[in-house]
Amino acid sequence: MTPPSLPPTVAAHVPTGVLIDGAWRPASSGRTFEVADPATTETLFDVADGGEQDALDALTAASAAFPQWRATAPRVRAELLRAVFETLTARTEDIAALVTAEGGKPLAESRAEVAYGADYVRWYSEQAVRFEGLARRAPSGTNHQLVLRRPVGPALLITPWNFPIAMIARKVAPALAAGCTVVIKPAQLTPLTTSYVAEIIREELEGRGLPTGVINVVPSASARTISGPLLADPRLRKLSFTGSTEVGAALLKASADNILRTSMELGGNAPFLVFEDADIPAAVQGAVQAKMRNAGQTCVAANRFLVHASVAEEFTAGLTEAFDRLVVGHGADEGTTVGPLIESSAVDRVEEVVAEAVDAGARVRIGGDRPDRPGYFYAPTVLDRVSADLRVITEETFGPVAPVVTFGSEEEGVSLANSTPFGLVAYAYTRDIARVMRLAESVDTGMLGVNRGIVSDASAPFGGVKSSGLGREGGEAGLEEYLDSVYVAI
Ligand code: NAD
Repeated sequence: MTPPSLPPTVAAHVPTGVLIDGAWRPASSGRTFEVADPATTETLFDVADGGEQDALDALTAASAAFPQWRATAPRVRAELLRAVFETLTARTEDIAALVTAEGGKPLAESRAEVAYGADYVRWYSEQAVRFEGLARRAPSGTNHQLVLRRPVGPALLITPWNFPIAMIARKVAPALAAGCTVVIKPAQLTPLTTSYVAEIIREELEGRGLPTGVINVVPSASARTISGPLLADPRLRKLSFTGSTEVGAALLKASADNILRTSMELGGNAPFLVFEDADIPAAVQGAVQAKMRNAGQTCVAANRFLVHASVAEEFTAGLTEAFDRLVVGHGADEGTTVGPLIESSAVDRVEEVVAEAVDAGARVRIGGDRPDRPGYFYAPTVLDRVSADLRVITEETFGPVAPVVTFGSEEEGVSLANSTPFGLVAYAYTRDIARVMRLAESVDTGMLGVNRGIVSDASAPFGGVKSSGLGREGGEAGLEEYLDSVYVAI
């Protein structure tokens, strides 16, 4: 099979098996599943459909490699990650082509995703030699206290389809830096990039004589057959999950009996607040960034535009013009700025919530339909006169739709922003620093972008509050997720 949208040089090097203890092999059942290009619906590859036996074999390999890996010098782990960073960066074009082929995002965004993912690997290569413990005299004066850090143990990493290099880089880099070994369950819809990156890490391990069971990958069309047996196995000590809140909650329950350490990066419903003193052209530009990356399919996508009534028309007209300049197409085509949605049901869902809003009186300023072309596309859409109780506001849309709701005071804006069970990220445009500090105190969020449409950075703690999750990725905090402490009283 020749994948149509993938350069042959890349296609020849995409692993399609399960990776266990340094070797790619077919699933033990012999089954495969198809991975398709969402812009054309054509099949790219058949990938091994891992099952329970593969998952348990992967955990056996990760457990066997753990004692040796945790004992490696931090500098050895740092240098391995640095080499992976260099390779990822050198192969940006190949990896970006793969990200675009399986996920649909425009090539420029895929390149940016490679750089973003690689940056986490670089950051944790730097952090690998900087674990901090504690030494002090006990308050009673009778002894000393030492707090040492050690890796939690073999970790299961489960990732979503929307950022197939970034999501795994944010987990695997701190896990390896901390001295943990891993079993990766990539998303069924986009497993190729993750496997390609895992192969880069495997090669680096092998080339340095390090245990190759440090990293194992089990793609599967049936996630539960992987997670069920692993979460129940006492050899597993950690689960790091990124995905929907619904699945995250189910996995938290499944982790309870085994008392697993868990990190949960879950869904969002980001408010984008535009105050009366905002720089409106800058807000429009930030809104396009916050809304339209990956055609709106990001956990940090601005889902609700909450705009002060006095600037609402200026902002909405500006956003409509900006959306009009976007170019919908195959991500690999020159000039495309908006790719497809990931699958047919995603387009159906977007269509449904827009129709519901329009029925309830919302006005379509631009878009509101499917472009006439094959693939899973939906037109960039701006809606105004939207009432805040509609699903396009209350649920994560995960599509290229920007609904505008107006407010009359800061208090009302904050109240609208907080009217959701989610709290991953919020955006605010204002020139008033005192207001910024009030928002930092009052908006229920793990992250706040001030006069910026992008907040995430490898050196900063990414994560949410409320139904958006537990734990952080990035920064010093991201390493903590993979470390235990041992307190020594002397
Ligand atoms: P999803 O929850 O459907 O799937 C995520 C992963 O979990 C996939 O690998 C999937 O195969 C697996 N999975 C599904 N059911 C499972 C089960 N019962 N047991 C074990 N694993 C299971 O989410 P998705 O559709 O892939 O991703 C979109 C969601 O992810 C959105 O809600 C988005 O906001 C969220 N997300 C969050 C972040 C973040 O950092 N907070 C980042 C990206 C995406």
